[in-house]
Amino acid sequence: MPQLTKSAELFEKAKKFIPGGVNSPVRAFKSVGGTPVYMAKGSGAYLTDVDGNTYLDYVGSWGPFILGSMHPRITAALEYTLKNIGTSFGTPIEMEIEIAELLCKIVPSLEMVRMVNSGTEATMSAVRLARGYTGRDKIIKFEGCYHGHGDSFLIKAGSGALTLGAPDSPGVTKGTAMDTLNATYNDIDSVKLLVNENKGQIAAIIIEPVAGNTGVIPAKPGFLAALRELCDQEGIVLIFDEVMCGFRVALGGAQSLYGVTPDLTTMGKIIGGGLPVGAFGGKREIMERVAPLGDVYQAGTLSGNPLALTAGLETLKILIDENPYPELERKAVILETGFSDNLKKLGLNYVQNRVGSMSCLFFTDTPVVNYSTAVTADTKKHGKYFHSMLDQGIYLAPSQFEAMFISFMHTDEDLEKTIKANYNALVASGK
Ligand SMILES: *Cc1c(COP(=O)(O)O)cnc(C)c1O
Repeated sequence: MPQLTKSAELFEKAKKFIPGGVNSPVRAFKSVGGTPVYMAKGSGAYLTDVDGNTYLDYVGSWGPFILGSMHPRITAALEYTLKNIGTSFGTPIEMEIEIAELLCKIVPSLEMVRMVNSGTEATMSAVRLARGYTGRDKIIKFEGCYHGHGDSFLIKAGSGALTLGAPDSPGVTKGTAMDTLNATYNDIDSVKLLVNENKGQIAAIIIEPVAGNTGVIPAKPGFLAALRELCDQEGIVLIFDEVMCGFRVALGGAQSLYGVTPDLTTMGKIIGGGLPVGAFGGKREIMERVAPLGDVYQAGTLSGNPLALTAGLETLKILIDENPYPELERKAVILETGFSDNLKKLGLNYVQNRVGSMSCLFFTDTPVVNYSTAVTADTKKHGKYFHSMLDQGIYLAPSQFEAMFISFMHTDEDLEKTIKANYNALVASGK
């Protein structure tokens, strides 16, 4: 069992100077209990903490590390940029054109793209653009989908599809909450109801085409196509938030996997290769409204800086050169099958959802298709499971409602080790 002495000391000190000791809430281990692990080094699929324990990493910095940590080509490219180019100029640079052109080539919906510094910036900007373009105020999102921490997205569903949103967080104004409507994932009727109740007032529908922030929930066949049709009928901008699933479930994202093309797409995580990068883009006619070409304002001091773009660009080039997706699928199937066999042996009926290399084991027997079925999961059991896995050197996201990511660097041996640990952890989590 790993000793976390130094991690515990650091966490105590951090709490004096940083709210909750962390710079992003889920890192604090609140939903699983115990001490957050302070990592000291990452390499490939492994992490080493400040106490010298090593872990097999299935968080991958919450998604970016599809190629593992410190990929030699990315490290070399970053070193080159540091030595020969610089970290930022605040002027246009050639690399910006290179990444924009490449993105438009690989992501079906993109005709023009703007680089930003995070997924949150991308979704906030895309929604502003959709509002500017349509001249409408309201947006529809889906309960349980996460689109970053912009005010418009921190709204709960309330008690039904007709209820207007109430802010999820103090500091979000009532006015903002009123403009955000929540529909039920995988339920087209819930969307149609909201659209009919708010005729001509909906600027955008924003969705994670593979939901990855309530565990993993794939869109049912036909659901995304039905959204596309509805948006076309009603003049609504369809936004796919591919910050997590983009470049993860396929090189061209969920939109290429499912063959449904949104009007705008938001990106992040993998596109930065471990550095802070986001992007939004889509139809030329809409993107031409972005300043300075158009009247919808959007800006960023460090947007498109050479250091961050180097990591992103090199990641994309490796994904194109090596096409790791079939291999990721093979590995994901090994893990899924191993977990299924363990569940069977133990007489458990827990649900596994998976799209490519993102998956989630839900501690519930109820098929998980939306937020309300996801929250049937037993988070206490999950907490025990999480800590047993951690004790066995397997680092999972410290929440039931997060994805498990496999990287290209996970070996078959690593997967076998994980399957064994999964058996023990299922036993430890209790019936
Ligand atoms: C992570 C995430 C975001 C927010 O990205 P940040 O870089 O954390 O701001 C937005 N949308 C989705 C789908 C995400 O998974």
